[in-house]
Amino acid sequence: MLDLTPKEVKERSALRINPCKTCQPVGAMFAALGVAKCMPHSHGSQGCCSYHRMVLSRHFKEPAVASSSSFTEGASVFGGKANITTSVKNIFEMYNPDIIAVHTTCLSETIGDDLTSFIIDLQIPEGKRVVHCNTPSYVGSHINGYFNMMMGFMNYLTGKTGMPTGKTAIFPGWVNPGDIRELKRIAKAMKVSTVFFPDQTGVLDAPMNGKYEMYPEGGTPIEEIQNLGDSNGLIALGEITCIEPAELLEKKWKVPFTLLPLPVGVAYTDQYVMALQEESKHEVPEELEAERGRLVDLLLDSAQYTIGKKVAIFGDPDVVIGLTSLALEMGMVPRYVITGTPKEEFTRKVEALFSQYATTGCTVKANADLFELHQWIKNERVDLMIGSTYGKQIARAEDIPFVRAGFPVIDRYGGPLQPIVGYAGGIRMVEQIVNALLDRFDRDVVDEDFEIVL
Ligand code: SF4
Repeated sequence: MLDLTPKEVKERSALRINPCKTCQPVGAMFAALGVAKCMPHSHGSQGCCSYHRMVLSRHFKEPAVASSSSFTEGASVFGGKANITTSVKNIFEMYNPDIIAVHTTCLSETIGDDLTSFIIDLQIPEGKRVVHCNTPSYVGSHINGYFNMMMGFMNYLTGKTGMPTGKTAIFPGWVNPGDIRELKRIAKAMKVSTVFFPDQTGVLDAPMNGKYEMYPEGGTPIEEIQNLGDSNGLIALGEITCIEPAELLEKKWKVPFTLLPLPVGVAYTDQYVMALQEESKHEVPEELEAERGRLVDLLLDSAQYTIGKKVAIFGDPDVVIGLTSLALEMGMVPRYVITGTPKEEFTRKVEALFSQYATTGCTVKANADLFELHQWIKNERVDLMIGSTYGKQIARAEDIPFVRAGFPVIDRYGGPLQPIVGYAGGIRMVEQIVNALLDRFDRDVVDEDFEIVL
């Protein structure tokens, strides 16, 4: 007979099965693709670079251009200085970027390559730039790689002239181009002059125009990164992803910052709008108030199908925190909330949300993996899963409705073009969540009740 009693889930400290994260250089490459005419460069072997490009290309359905130092046995033993010297020369001659953004890999970190001194010794053509950051992938996750690369750009490029730019810097965090477009639209509606850094719009959502462009129009211009130190202020979105770059900008260039959660759902979008209002002193326009009202209306209309539904949410820390807040606004129970990124701050933020909504009996964990989530779900089922493509095997095995969100979503199309942030993104997510639950209801309901739902 099948034994269905809950099983104890053992703690593992030295083993990850089905990780809920990817490696640091993926994040460094993603951040570098958000800078205008930038060639991301992987200082390691070709296999790492191919993997990082593949993950990004499969998610965005766009080419993720990058180069590699192409380590072989020689570089692995004697160091990669000759490789990067030749690489940089060839890249500027053949592909003519304005800037090369170098990140390390496990291999170059392990042999101890000193990129700072290598770059000082490079012959860099007039007007061109080379920056770097360290991304040892046995520490952290792609989220660390993303903010390390941001700080790499700032450490090499940013200065302070004392002449204010009149702009507010916005760090959008790890989001899709569709999200950045929505964040920009809201800032424009609030009449705030902004510079987004990094900014993958136009690069990883480049329109088809019939010709290949190695550097599509888009990305934060280098001059804007140089001028970040003269910004009016900074709004950093994503409390886990953006705190370190925000602190760097404040510490080195005295730019005050407001750190906010990713604006997913009503409350967190309100915080973003209020922070923009603080910058511009303009009233919130009717257009945004109406959008907010439509989202609240949708939450109320659909509450009968979402209240009390148990959901498992997994993925990158700030996206997961935002989606957890939205799920709580929908009256759902976020039974399991995990990220693969090892940041304990994540756990504290999610527990604070549970307390705010007086929700008990939920489990949150950083540095977790999907095998562990599967074990929990086997012990106590959920009604819905929300997260990256990597959860699809669990959803299929346990026959649970599944809404894809976050990174990477490699088995569906169009996601990176659409927002999950802002009131408009909230409407999109609520639609997907409620309809996934209703699809399931339609499938399971007895014939007599099939017609009368809604
Ligand atoms: S070796 Fe390290 S850097 Fe390369 S793909 Fe694996 S985890 Fe990433």
